[in-house]
Amino acid sequence: MSTYVTANPTTGVTDREFPGLDDNDVATVAERSLAAYQDWRTTEASERAAMLARTADLYEKRADELAAVITTEMGKPAKEAAGEVQLAADIYRWYAEHGPDLLETEALDPQGAEASIVQVAPIGPLVGVMPWNYPYYQVARFVAPNLLAGNTVILKHASICAASSALMAEILHDAGVPADVYINVYASSDQIADLLAHKAIRGVSLTGSEKAGAAVAKVAAENLKKSVLELGGSDPFILLDSDDMERTTKIAARARLSNAGQACNSPKRFIVLDDLYDDFVDGVVKQFESTAVGDPADESTQMGPLSSLSARDTVAEQVDTAVTQGATLRTGGKPVQRDGAFFEPTVLTDITPEMDAYSEEIFGPVAMIYKVASAEDAVALANDVEFGLSGSVWSGDIDSAEKVADRLEVGMAYVNEHGTTLPGLPFGGVKRSGYGRELGRWGMGEFVNTKLRRTA
Ligand code: NDP
Repeated sequence: MSTYVTANPTTGVTDREFPGLDDNDVATVAERSLAAYQDWRTTEASERAAMLARTADLYEKRADELAAVITTEMGKPAKEAAGEVQLAADIYRWYAEHGPDLLETEALDPQGAEASIVQVAPIGPLVGVMPWNYPYYQVARFVAPNLLAGNTVILKHASICAASSALMAEILHDAGVPADVYINVYASSDQIADLLAHKAIRGVSLTGSEKAGAAVAKVAAENLKKSVLELGGSDPFILLDSDDMERTTKIAARARLSNAGQACNSPKRFIVLDDLYDDFVDGVVKQFESTAVGDPADESTQMGPLSSLSARDTVAEQVDTAVTQGATLRTGGKPVQRDGAFFEPTVLTDITPEMDAYSEEIFGPVAMIYKVASAEDAVALANDVEFGLSGSVWSGDIDSAEKVADRLEVGMAYVNEHGTTLPGLPFGGVKRSGYGRELGRWGMGEFVNTKLRRTA
């Protein structure tokens, strides 16, 4: 039996322990989920939608409490935490409003003598494995469409999110979702493998690292279960021109430092045409150096700690390696001299393909800035990594920018914005950033049975 231990990353002090799932209970959890599914799948979609709408209302009603929990648990600044709670509420509400229409049966040959229809049916109990960087949002985008579709959910959150995951379960149950339709477990990786092997389980969705994704997808494949993976990214931010460099660098810095840089779709590589490069580097350095780093509970804080001391140490090691391999450190580069998992906003330049930083994801407040001679070179550099989550192109010439955006090997390409996430838009990547889509009608299509019924 594993134990989930949470530590406050602002102080570095371990605060709570949560007893884990007993090995003997793994099969029982799967069986409870399957038993609940038999009833849940036959409820009216409108009834399930009403529960999601109530969930959204409860998120809004308990917003301050929800936000405070993740500020303590993973160090998200108060304002960003409040924004995340609202986004999660918006996702539950979007599926409550639009979900039932997405489940409508489609007639294929209404004029024919034989009637063919396609139904959208649930497939059964699913496992969700979720990360700590957006504790509420990540869960909402998996749970809302799947509960609405009639599937049941067993949720394993990151072990550092033991408190927020318990709160999410409480809210869903308070909104009317039956206890075994949504089961929160404090499970180990081995127990997740055992769950996926259980015949009751029909699929798994994981958001997290490539390593975790590959491990879970392997077990899912061995057991012929479907998987959806949302993994890392090293998103390009391509700057072709700017008529207001101060504004551009402010947007770039905010996007990179949001959530202390711990977002899969954060812009991590800034690819700038050479005539803009010096001004862009100077501007980003200035923005980074004037960012208020501190206690995430303080409303004036712009950047809090990383999620854990080990996350901070990983980033410190990656930056040290980049500098040792020849990258230029323009600002930052080390842990902040105080308790907790703080790391200085950091700018690296002169990164070359031989360096580790060129191809790996840095999950922290580190901007890598590249100089290129043309839009053509920018596209080549942007696509020269194994990741393909999202990317953005910035220019006053929208047509040219859209042409560049169309050449990015990513799941989400933006022009003059980066990373906008809305409940109705698809979210997901290509290449090593994973497969499958979340949110909108696409998120609803991943774990359903597109079932033909044809009557002669
Ligand atoms: P992980 O991928 O290890 O954690 C994400 C989730 O997967 C957690 O719930 C974790 O559980 C679980 N997990 C890990 N390994 C397994 C396994 N073998 N079987 C089942 N579940 C597993 O992320 P880390 O916290 O270690 O972060 C490391 C890196 O991952 C980051 O630096 C970043 O690059 C990437 N990452 C990407 C995210 C994204 O949004 N795409 C989010 C978070 C991380 P537990 O917490 O109990 O280990």
